[in-house]
Amino acid sequence: MDIRSNEPYWLIVNSLPYSYPRLQKSISSEVLIIGAGITGALVAYKLINEGKKVIMVDRRDVCNGSTAASTSMLQYEIDVPLHKLIEQVGLTCAVSSYQNCEKTITDLKKIVDKIKSNCGFEYKKSVYFTSSKKDISFLKDEFEARQAHGFNVKWLSKEEIEKIGLNAFAAIESKSGAVMDIYKFTNDLLNYCCGKGLEIYDRTSIEEVKAKNEKTMATTKEGHIIEVDDVVHCSGYESVKTIKENIVNLKSTFALASEAYEKIPQAFKNRIYWNTDEPYLYFRSTADNRIVMGGGDRDFKNAKHRDALLPRKEKELTKSFKKCFSEISFIADYSWAGTFGETKDGLPYFGKTDPEKSEHYILGFGGNGITFSVMGMEAVINSINKTPHSFLEYYKFKR
Ligand SMILES: Cc1cc2nc3c(=O)[nH]c(=O)nc-3n(C[C@H](O)[C@H](O)[C@H](O)COP(=O)(O)OP(=O)(O)OC[C@H]3O[C@@H](n4cnc5c(N)ncnc54)[C@H](O)[C@@H]3O)c2cc1C
Repeated sequence: MDIRSNEPYWLIVNSLPYSYPRLQKSISSEVLIIGAGITGALVAYKLINEGKKVIMVDRRDVCNGSTAASTSMLQYEIDVPLHKLIEQVGLTCAVSSYQNCEKTITDLKKIVDKIKSNCGFEYKKSVYFTSSKKDISFLKDEFEARQAHGFNVKWLSKEEIEKIGLNAFAAIESKSGAVMDIYKFTNDLLNYCCGKGLEIYDRTSIEEVKAKNEKTMATTKEGHIIEVDDVVHCSGYESVKTIKENIVNLKSTFALASEAYEKIPQAFKNRIYWNTDEPYLYFRSTADNRIVMGGGDRDFKNAKHRDALLPRKEKELTKSFKKCFSEISFIADYSWAGTFGETKDGLPYFGKTDPEKSEHYILGFGGNGITFSVMGMEAVINSINKTPHSFLEYYKFKR
């Protein structure tokens, strides 16, 4: 599956910071991670810190899957609003999912600082707004649920929102949010982990994983065998091919990066935005004074169809921007398309599909993919050590 189009902005500003060899022979280790995106990088960081010997492979260059396409907004706000999630999965799982997503933002900042990654991490307020009168009561329900469960939120009236420069009827402003360049950070984290013993092979595709004599054998396209105790699949949306359960609806999504402004418009200095539309729109600024926005999701048919929609989506998204921020001009310099997935409850999938096998999945599907990957990093060691963790219960397969 081709999971993104060719021109994500992050690939252009960063190019290829580090390069790794292909696997040329059969090897063995303790753990194999399949996938060198943000999820694989965080899982590698955790396992290396736990003293494990780890090999990582990716069929592309590292970080060239969805991670290169991500708009890298960090929010604790899951695609399913809290008051709806409580109805769907119960109070404990819903509130804990929101709380843990919030915690991941500061957890990620600690790693950014530890590895000294110059990835533009910046805390921002997150504004969830509605441009439709009929959604005000829905937004109010969400505000009350968040307030009741201790989240630091503020209700913004139409007048307060207008002062920011946003055209909307009402909004919830949350203190917890951030932006970064996840492509740069993932590259930096992989390089850091290599310094601590991680072995990376890129352009190396795993075609089959099988158990044999207490070990797990992964076979590459070229026929080389990687023999390990455990395999962790951090293979993103392509993992749907190896999982029987239907866990995700694939969507095509679209993103734009504007021309650089001389100074970042005031509305974007301290805030990121998303709205109640279905599909929703979202907006952030970058360290080099651009505005990145995304949305326009459609059901995924195939990569060709998704990429063919891009010129039309660029026009539609630009028009939507102007409706929301009429005082700010927006000229798209870069546009790209990616594939992402929605799960039935907006939550990720962690753990084993088959308890008998030593294969673990960390799949942070959805708009909060990055924060879910940080949560997955916490759960992976328990999955390997066969010890309980609440995430392995909340986000298990066949739930
Ligand atoms: C346009 C867009 C905007 C987004 N915006 C945000 C956002 O603002 N905030 C947010 O939190 N999330 C966002 N997301 C989601 C986020 O980008 C993803 O959740 C995240 O990048 C997934 O990372 P990953 O490492 O799990 O997957 P990937 O980055 O796709 O990495 C998986 C890797 O596995 C490799 N692989 C797969 N199968 C094999 C195999 N058999 N053998 C070897 N290698 C294999 C692939 O080549 C790939 O590199 C966005 C996604 C898109 C597309």
